[in-house]
Formats: sequence, C-alpha cells, structure tokens
Amino acid sequence: KPLGKCSRCKKNEAIINLAYARQRLCKDCFNDFFVNRVRRVVEEFRMFKPGERVAVAVSGGKDSVALLHALKKAFPEQDIYAFYINLGIKYYSDHLEKKVIELAEMVGVPIEIYNLKEKEGYTIDDFLLTKYKNKMCSVCGLIKRNIFTTLAVRVNADTVATGHNLDDTVSTMMSLFFAGDFEGIARLKPVLKPLIKGQPRKIKPLITTPEIEDLYYVALNELPVQECGCPHGEFTPIKGMKKWLDEMEKEQPDIKFRLLSVFRRKFIPLVDRGLGEEGVEEVRACTVCGMPSSSEICSKCRRVMELMEIKERRGEIKMEITFE
Ligand code: SF4
Ligand code: ZN
Repeated sequence: KPLGKCSRCKKNEAIINLAYARQRLCKDCFNDFFVNRVRRVVEEFRMFKPGERVAVAVSGGKDSVALLHALKKAFPEQDIYAFYINLGIKYYSDHLEKKVIELAEMVGVPIEIYNLKEKEGYTIDDFLLTKYKNKMCSVCGLIKRNIFTTLAVRVNADTVATGHNLDDTVSTMMSLFFAGDFEGIARLKPVLKPLIKGQPRKIKPLITTPEIEDLYYVALNELPVQECGCPHGEFTPIKGMKKWLDEMEKEQPDIKFRLLSVFRRKFIPLVDRGLGEEGVEEVRACTVCGMPSSSEICSKCRRVMELMEIKERRGEIKMEITFE
C-alpha cells in the first residue's frame, strides 16, 4: 500500500518504510540516509584515516556490492581498492566475476581478481573430495579470510573492509553465545586490530545496516549483483538465528540494534577484561602463508594440504620433487 510522502523531504512519494527509525523515505532520501550511516560508522569507530588504503572484499553479493558503492560515495577521495576471489565454484564464480568487474568500473575503483585455481591449484568445489564436503561454507570462509588478508598485505592496504551487516553480526553473536564461544563474540567488533604487526585491521562499515537495506540500496541504484545462488549454500545455525530475529523484529522493530548495542557496549568489554593478559591465545605467523595462526600451520593451509594429498593420490596433480 502507498506509504505517503517521504518523512525527510516531504516532497516525494516514500517507497521504503524503516519501522525502527519511524521513517518513510523516498529513493533519494534513502540513498542519503544509507551513505550517511556508512560515513558515520567509519568516523565513529575511526575505521580509517584520510590517505589510508582501504581494500574492500567484494563477493558480488548484495552486501559487499552495497558496501563498495556506498563507501566510495561517502569517501570519494579515499584510496579504495576492490578484491574479488574467483573460488572456482562452477558457473557461480565466473558469473560473479563479471558482476564485480562491472561494479568496479561503475564505481571507479581498481579491482584485483585472485583466481584460486590459477594461483593455488585448487577450487572450492574440490573440497567435495574431502571430509569437509558437508562443511563447504566453513572451509570457504577460512580460505577467503586468509586470502583477503594476504592480498591486502601485498597491496599495502591499511585495512580490509567486509560487508558484514547488522543481521549477520547479531545472528552470529547470538549463535556464538548459545555455543558458549564468548571469545568468538569479542572478535565481532566493528574494528578488529591485526593479530600480527604490519597486517591490516578489519573493519565492518555496514555493522549497523540491516540486511534488507543492502538489498534496497542495490536494487534502487541498479548495481550489478549476484543473480544466482551458490550451490554449496547450506542451512547453518546462523541462518536459523536470522529467521528467529526476523520474527522478533515484527514485534520489536529495533531488537537487532538493541542486541548489537548490548553485545558491543556491555558484553564484549566484559569478555575482553576477563581474557586479560594470559587469556588471549598465543598467535604466531603460519609457517606456510604467514597469516595469524594458533599453531605452526594455520587451519586454511592444513585443509589445503589435505586436499592436495587427495588430489595427488587421484593423480590429478603430480608433486614436483626437485633436488638442489
Ligand atoms: Fe563459499 Fe558457502 Fe558462500 Fe558458497 S555459500 S561462496 S561455499 S561461503
Ligand atoms: Zn597458513
């Protein structure tokens, strides 16, 4: 049904109802509202300074697409760099690659494409051969995080921005809470300092942006975005939690914001204090890839090694042995 006039400009017809903010906005006012919120979050949490290089991890999904576009609008002078990892997921990854190239051109930022198959000799699909075949997203997430950080180090980026939105963050926090993983919750801060000196910090400029608004933003601005789903997408506890929060939101429109605030202002400081000096897990650089790890070889490299062994046994690759 029609929403009436926009609460901000009082001129145009409103097309979006933001119940938590008691506002109905037209397209232009929504765009301003969206971009201003990104700008405010970056400034409030001091995510980056002028002159710093910001690497944006773009997957081609609505969140990272909205992030890249809005970040460039909010900070037109900032040195922004886009990264895309072609994970080698059949049909899906090539489809997304085209979208992100189109997006980077539209936004006017350089983009670096990292092709997993070409650079490292395997694809995410290959993990169907391993014992992780029912945990594809967790392996995939591990690999993506590792590579984004590696790429950011390579281009001297001061920070890596990801498209985690309000719903992602709160539902992950709740799931970790039920699992008793409080340290995991503490890692969900808007800004995460690097565990190893010289590596980029990780920022979430969309941490206060509801997921649905990323979708509105992408659709209203006709941004190139993923049009088909990943074949490995699976039902996770986090997705279940999201559904539950969506139900709660119908009664309490600001529930997600309130939960984020409780975790951020009350819970995380408590966990940080409790961890103290000795509580923090010792972190060192993985001897293979150099990324932060709690053991000699990080989880990503260990999984890749397992995969490569299987591929080798199947005769898909030959190990090259050289004597010096
Ligand atoms: Fe990776 Fe899972 Fe996302 Fe597919 S759905 S790209 S496997 S994290
Ligand atoms: Zn490693």
